[in-house]
Amino acid sequence: VTVGQVFDQQVRAHGDRLALVVSHEGVRLTYSQLDQQVNQVACALYDQGLRAGDRLGVFMTNNLAWLVLQYATSKLGIILVTINPAYRLHELEYALNLVGCKALVLSPSFKKSDYITMVHELVPEIATADPSRLTSTKVPSLRAIFVVDSVLPAASALSPALNWRELPGLQDYQRLVTAPISAESAQALNHPSLQCMDVVNIQFTSGTTGSPKAAALSHRNLLNNGYFAGQNLGYTPDDVVCSPVPLYHCFGLVLGNLACLTHGAALVLPSPAFDAEATLQAVAAERCTALYGVPTMFIEEMTHPNFSKYDLSSLRTGIMSGSPCPIEVMREVIDKMHAAGMTIAYGMTETSPLSFMTSPTDKVERRVSTVGQLLPHVEVKIIDSATGETVPIGVPGEVCVRGFGVMRGYWNDPTNTVKAIDQDGWMHSGDTGLFDQSGYLQIVGRTKDMIIRGGENLYPSEIENCLFEHPNIQNVAVVGVPDKRFGEEACACIIPNDPEKPVTRESIREYCRDRLAHYKIPRYILTMDSFPKTITGKIKRNVLRDMTCEKLG
Ligand code: ATP
Ligand code: MG
Repeated sequence: VTVGQVFDQQVRAHGDRLALVVSHEGVRLTYSQLDQQVNQVACALYDQGLRAGDRLGVFMTNNLAWLVLQYATSKLGIILVTINPAYRLHELEYALNLVGCKALVLSPSFKKSDYITMVHELVPEIATADPSRLTSTKVPSLRAIFVVDSVLPAASALSPALNWRELPGLQDYQRLVTAPISAESAQALNHPSLQCMDVVNIQFTSGTTGSPKAAALSHRNLLNNGYFAGQNLGYTPDDVVCSPVPLYHCFGLVLGNLACLTHGAALVLPSPAFDAEATLQAVAAERCTALYGVPTMFIEEMTHPNFSKYDLSSLRTGIMSGSPCPIEVMREVIDKMHAAGMTIAYGMTETSPLSFMTSPTDKVERRVSTVGQLLPHVEVKIIDSATGETVPIGVPGEVCVRGFGVMRGYWNDPTNTVKAIDQDGWMHSGDTGLFDQSGYLQIVGRTKDMIIRGGENLYPSEIENCLFEHPNIQNVAVVGVPDKRFGEEACACIIPNDPEKPVTRESIREYCRDRLAHYKIPRYILTMDSFPKTITGKIKRNVLRDMTCEKLG
């Protein structure tokens, strides 16, 4: 089945039940009401000339239009390209060109003037060329831009000489919601030619280890992921899931939207971008049963001055993912937020995303020291990347995953696709993990970040965890640098708590002496003000490593 077919099934089964709440837009829709908008917008897109296989980019923070477009495009077989709304112009351009987007929908939620400038920069010809048709030398494939909310009046104010509303290539999204539709367009919805293995979504990886890669994901990839994640959390049509995570990432789009859809549950979007109080407010107002977030979101919610004002007693479960979760945070989520069944998950964009998840009933220690067990129907092996041989239980190696989640490939990039997915269908994650006796996986870091010092494998995360507890260290990242004698040596890049009090090499060595084996103690220490990071906040270790090598000569 396709996403669009599952959507229709759920409308038939639970039409009168709540499907979606968008708190900041005052939106509350049942499955049937959402379906009406989805069909209208889908037909309008068809009448605009968009067809199965075309790429439509969404460059927006969380809102109603985003959800409508996700289901509208899936009913038409259009490929939804989800773009991080924090991208700057050149990143947006790169993404749109990489996949050849024919249309783009954007909302001005961050900064209105920024978006107008971006539109103007993307299609500079708008000001001069033939206004009968949108053309862009920067993104030659682009034929239409739809803007959500009030960006058009603002744009007109900025460039009064232009009648933005009259430029056919640039349109108000609202027109799609109200346009009269053709009889022909309705025939295209959930057309029998659409297959579950068709690509329905292109998502970009976070770009932690290089440029973001465009993962092409099918209906089957996404539906199964959403379904099994929801099943693990015990979702039913009575569940109400609060998802303050961004929709452009699989966490929101799959574990949020599709986990709810496949189980007939309701989704609550509290704010355009993360807002701790809006999230607490939404949980209390909608009596949410599940809450999502990366660990820092949960921390911000629990430390919010108005935290105690909100009744969170309806919460029972949720997902915390994206980065390792400190045990105290999990304990507090359970005690203070009443979410006794909060879970941890591991995945990557290329596996749509999840392959491992803890269960709501796992012991708390398990839920923070491991990423849980395999999802049903997924296979895993842990290999020695050098030899390709499977390693014994308890020995760290590269995590390889096979099953329904593995992407169709990187869009238009067979070279990198065969590097990532081998002949037998195993996706090589680039992460190092180890299994314990009971089948729980522990992630120790990225395989490429592992430091090989004189034949000993050093895992940056282990050394970092130790140094994190040092009272004068605010943040630390350990990278490998070339060394004549040992091949590689560890260098700890440190951001001190107090810039006036740098952390010396001697004090670090002294500190580590009782805590780490001698060969793991970093040979070099570099003090820094900040680390190079991706938009999603992950440290760009390859860049950091280059910086470190340069500094150390
Ligand atoms: P890129 O592939 O562009 O370098 P990325 O790998 O960070 O970026 P994502 O697909 O968003 O892009 O992130 C997946 C990665 O995040 C995993 O490969 C893993 O390294 C890390 N990760 C995900 N979940 C967890 C977790 N629960 N614990 C530790 N690391 C995790
Ligand atoms: Mg990756």
